Amino acid sequence: RTAVVLFTRDLRVHDHPALAAACAVAEHVVPLFVLDPALLGRSANRDRFLHQALADLRAGLRERGADLVVRRGDTVAETIAVARAAGADGIAVSHDVSRFATRRQERLRAEADRHRMSLRLFPGVTVLPPGEVSPGGGGGHYRVFSPYFRAWESAALRDEAAPPQRIAPLPDAGALGVALPEPPKGESPDAAEGGETEGRRRLTAWLRHIDAYDDQHDAMADDDTSRLSAYLRFGCLSPLAVVNAARRQGGPGAAAFVRQLCWRDFYYQVTAGFPDISRKPMRPSGDRDWRYDAHALEAWQSGRTGVPIVDAGMRQLMAEGWMHNRARLITAALLTKHLRCDWRDGQAWFFRWLIDGDVANNSGNWQWVAGTGNDTRPHRRFNPIRQAQRYDPEGDYVRRYVPELAGIPGPAVHQPWRLDGFERLDYPPPLESHGDEAVWLRP
Ligand code: FAD
Repeated sequence: RTAVVLFTRDLRVHDHPALAAACAVAEHVVPLFVLDPALLGRSANRDRFLHQALADLRAGLRERGADLVVRRGDTVAETIAVARAAGADGIAVSHDVSRFATRRQERLRAEADRHRMSLRLFPGVTVLPPGEVSPGGGGGHYRVFSPYFRAWESAALRDEAAPPQRIAPLPDAGALGVALPEPPKGESPDAAEGGETEGRRRLTAWLRHIDAYDDQHDAMADDDTSRLSAYLRFGCLSPLAVVNAARRQGGPGAAAFVRQLCWRDFYYQVTAGFPDISRKPMRPSGDRDWRYDAHALEAWQSGRTGVPIVDAGMRQLMAEGWMHNRARLITAALLTKHLRCDWRDGQAWFFRWLIDGDVANNSGNWQWVAGTGNDTRPHRRFNPIRQAQRYDPEGDYVRRYVPELAGIPGPAVHQPWRLDGFERLDYPPPLESHGDEAVWLRP
């Protein structure tokens, strides 16, 4: 028996249920990745990380005796072509819930049926598969995080799948694929490097710091979060294995970190129940009359709004392909609640730059901030200046990313327009607010 394991966003060999199951039952295993034009080209940062992760996956598979077959084209057509050429009787893939992935799975199932092959879907993209817990146990998805977290926290988890010792390759499998291209250039000069090896190294290092997470995760200048999101996004790390490792460590820091990982699962189950998440408001009454203001949008995108904490976040995004969570909240709130620009425009800009950018988490969080989604207090106000004073009390985060303000010491950097000589700085005055009160203009 021969099985094709189609890799998608699960680019690892540890705790990979589909790979482990295929190795347990099949005589030959063909690990496959399809470079699908429908997914490439949306973000140079993610394309770069993906290619690095594929090179690392290939190395991990080779150590175990197999190789990664790489094809280019439509994922379904190429998978079926490889499966037929390999004489495979089954295809294994990790279950995913975005609209794109759901359609891909449906098409794959139809084609597999037509060619008398089996298609098996496996867990591994989330800690708990979407739908495994549901409100009142009656199906449907949770719209509010706290009850979801309570159910999630006490749910039984599957065992981690051991990495296969040896993967029996199909003879001549190399002839089925094309060469893996060199990683393309990303847009962000300080982007993280992709791959399971790097992800595992970072996880080990992170576990040594996790104790401080509870108190420190909002301290913007200290950078005391895990920065594992991109590795989870591409499945270089198994979210279940990350949760298990944190729980083994124990303590309030680990507990707070596990709770954040539950947000990730939360938005996947929201997306499974509401596949239009990137386009339509979940709470239609929250989708107010957004303004289209090209000038404001461009200023926000390029980090020139004149509100330093916002500009620092937007520039971190472009420099690193990552932004601190607190900065994501502040920048998104400024765009939607003060500038009154459409959350979909902000979402699109984040999606271009974020290496961890994925539909469920990006859209779910944007809708939360804009008040169109799962926030139980959709009208909450984020005062960017107060946020800055609280979470960047000395102004170090701002000075790190906004060199025009690097010479202003201490927290005064958050309101440079109050300083004598402001006009001489190459830095704009704050944009006019069109929504919530322009808090920055207060004396
Ligand atoms: P840590 O603080 O170390 O958290 C650990 C993990 O928990 C993260 O890696 C992530 O997988 C998960 N997590 C933490 N916070 C959230 C959250 N609010 N929602 C969902 N998962 C969370 N996260 C993404 O992974 N992809 C996105 O596209 C994305 N877009 C966002 C857009 C906006 C407007 C906002 C406000 C948040 C967004 N987030 C997104 C959530 C969060 O900002 C990032 O997951 C986090 O900053 C990643 O850094 P970290 O790995 O150091 O996080």
